Amino acid sequence: MLVERLESKGLGSLTEHKVVGLKKNSEGWTLKVQSEIGGTPSWVDASFVFVGAGGMSLNLLQASGIPEIRGYGGFPVSGVWLRCDNPEVVSLHKAKVYGKASVGAPPMSVPHLDNRVVDGETSLLFGPYAGFTPKFLKQGSWLDFFQSIRWHNIIPLLGVAIGNFSLVTYLVKEVLATRSQRLQALWDFYPTADPDDWYELTAGQRVQVIKPDPQKGGVLQFGTELVASADGSIAGLLGASPGASTAAPIMIDVLETCFPDKMGEWRSTLKKMVPSYGTALSENPEKAQKSLAATAAKLGLSV
Ligand SMILES: Cc1cc2nc3c(=O)[nH]c(=O)nc-3n(C[C@H](O)[C@H](O)[C@H](O)COP(=O)(O)OP(=O)(O)OC[C@H]3O[C@@H](n4cnc5c(N)ncnc54)[C@H](O)[C@@H]3O)c2cc1C
Repeated sequence: MLVERLESKGLGSLTEHKVVGLKKNSEGWTLKVQSEIGGTPSWVDASFVFVGAGGMSLNLLQASGIPEIRGYGGFPVSGVWLRCDNPEVVSLHKAKVYGKASVGAPPMSVPHLDNRVVDGETSLLFGPYAGFTPKFLKQGSWLDFFQSIRWHNIIPLLGVAIGNFSLVTYLVKEVLATRSQRLQALWDFYPTADPDDWYELTAGQRVQVIKPDPQKGGVLQFGTELVASADGSIAGLLGASPGASTAAPIMIDVLETCFPDKMGEWRSTLKKMVPSYGTALSENPEKAQKSLAATAAKLGLSV
């Protein structure tokens, strides 16, 4: 809907195309774009580039050659889930219920039982369990991780491998977990779950950020990191967010980082769109309550 609205105002968009290269020019960037069905690549000029390519953002930012990406690496962890499509079971649970993460587990691995609508079909999903492939996207290449290794991120990568014993132990345990061990975690939530109703699938791929650190060589960062060039002409989002719900504050961060001279002009529109913009709601419970009530009223809900 958003893209359609922008298209009606003159935006051009390309889907099923891949950015396969990018080069700095005097005005901004030239992107080499390849259709997924093949053919000759085309070139697109852009005064500003935002790299929102999920796990592949690291490789694209590296390809841009900006110095700000030096030292960054990525560690891929796939999200494996148990899924149940039995309508009788699915109709019993219409909520999202969280447990607690295991020792060493990344924060976005907190187990939860969730009602999901996938392609119009409602199912229950339980997970995530961690799996490992060197791919940076679910449909990525087995070479993604290896292609992201550069001389400038070798020390951070090694620093993380040596300094994160509990995470490594957690991942090895998770990758080697049998189906019955995975079911045990489900039974903690739903003791009468019938194993025949649940099947395993890989639902997504995360690439955790590895950041250079002067003391430890490198640190594994949970969450997301915005990397932008000093001139503000390119920015990209690295890391695994605990949810797409972080998109709005991340985009505000992009605007402030890359367009500081426009913020004066844009602030009032932003304030209209996000009335709490510029206030730390966590430090102001009264304002937080007011903001929540205003949003709820817009949605016709009561709080
Ligand atoms: C099972 C599961 C459940 C989740 N549940 C929730 C939830 O309940 N709430 C929530 O808020 N979040 C949830 N998330 C997280 C959420 O889905 C992600 O945080 C979000 O999708 C990340 O969006 P993104 O656009 O950054 O990356 P992605 O969704 O990974 O999109 C990146 C896109 O870039 C494209 N791309 C990559 N390389 C190139 C290239 N070279 N050229 C062009 N395009 C390229 C990819 O094909 C892809 O379409 C869930 C994730 C999973 C896997």
